[in-house]
Amino acid sequence: MSSIFSKIIAGEIPSYKVAEDDSFFAFLDINPLKKGHTLVIPKKEVDYIFDIDDMQLAEMVVFAKKVAKSIEKVIPCKRIAMTVIGLEVPHAHIHLIPLDEINDVNFAKPKLQFDRSEFNEIAIKILDMFNSL
Ligand code: 5GP
Repeated sequence: MSSIFSKIIAGEIPSYKVAEDDSFFAFLDINPLKKGHTLVIPKKEVDYIFDIDDMQLAEMVVFAKKVAKSIEKVIPCKRIAMTVIGLEVPHAHIHLIPLDEINDVNFAKPKLQFDRSEFNEIAIKILDMFNSL
């Protein structure tokens, strides 16, 4: 059975895409800690990030770097935090979170809510930036 994130890649479940290449996909977290909170995933489904083979993992970080550069040009922040949790969805993913203070990466705090048009607007801006870099 494929993960919810594989269904997102396949377009079977909608998402707010912010970047894509042949091997990786990035989209807005639906329960964001911060405006622009993004998830980066490999198209090849692997549960645990440290089970990904070396080359693929290195490429995933380089892809995440380009996504982070795109986010920081669109969302005002001090820098982009890169974190891995993976307790909820068994498909490896990197969280990219616009960071202004340490509490911005407190996963235990209540999540933000945006309506569909706000999510769309954020995603399109980041995607446009990603495609221009
Ligand atoms: P983790 O596995 O890193 O503990 O958390 C999974 C993350 O994926 C959470 O931040 C959660 O909000 C996000 N998430 C779970 N299901 C979906 C979904 O269907 N769509 C999107 N965009 N994000 C999701």
